[in-house]
Amino acid sequence: LQETIELATIDPLTGLHNRRFLEGHLPKAVERSAQDGRALSLLVVDIDHFKHINDRFGHDVGDEVLREFAGRLRESLRASDLACRLGGEEFVLVLPDTDPASANVIAERLRLLVSTTPIAVAGGIRLTISAGCATLGPYDTDATLLKRADMAVYSAKHNGRNRVVTLAA
Ligand code: C2E
Ligand code: C2E
Repeated sequence: LQETIELATIDPLTGLHNRRFLEGHLPKAVERSAQDGRALSLLVVDIDHFKHINDRFGHDVGDEVLREFAGRLRESLRASDLACRLGGEEFVLVLPDTDPASANVIAERLRLLVSTTPIAVAGGIRLTISAGCATLGPYDTDATLLKRADMAVYSAKHNGRNRVVTLAA
């Protein structure tokens, strides 16, 4: 049974949790943080122009890039943080006890890491990412929090990519 549950909630390509896991986890995380009066931040992270990588190098390289990127996410976050792959090149990080300033520190650290240290695939591929940050406000639900982080990453894309945007509650 355990194996079945894992298969259903783990993204097979990257080993990160998947959208289904996030959908189960986020409402509980929001409720817990609201009850305890603790901060909770979300980062939506999107690899810029990922389609170009697939088009130029092929899907096998694209997959390898996603795997390597996921590894970097795992290494640069705390064990208490959660990284999920929503699909394609889109990721969500759930950061308990993390205020807006700290969420921004984490997003900037990731942005700098991937843009300065190439991923060792196909002779080295440098990535840039766009990230949207949102922190739980008093009127938020899991849906509105995720929606705000999504709007933030949308704004990062439209303002030239390779940047972090925070939308206040
Ligand atoms: P910093 O790296 O500039 O991080 C500032 C604050 O951002 C941290 O304050 C924390 O609230 C938040 N933060 C940064 N990265 C993460 C993360 O991956 N996950 C989460 N949930 N929060 C993060 P804090 O905790 O008071 O730490 C102060 C400083 O201590 C950090 O400044 C960093 O220089 C160092 N530090 C703390 N924990 C670690 C760690 O596990 N590894 C490393 N390399 N440094 C750490
Ligand atoms: P961890 O807390 O699970 O963090 C795993 C990795 O996430 C860290 O690996 C680091 O790359 C990144 N990270 C987490 N929090 C921060 C942060 O606030 N700032 C920065 N710049 N990076 C952060 P790292 O550095 O190899 O640390 C491995 C483990 O050692 C950490 O696991 C934590 O358990 C412990 N550790 C390291 N530095 C500190 C520290 O300053 N304070 C505390 N309380 N623990 C630390």
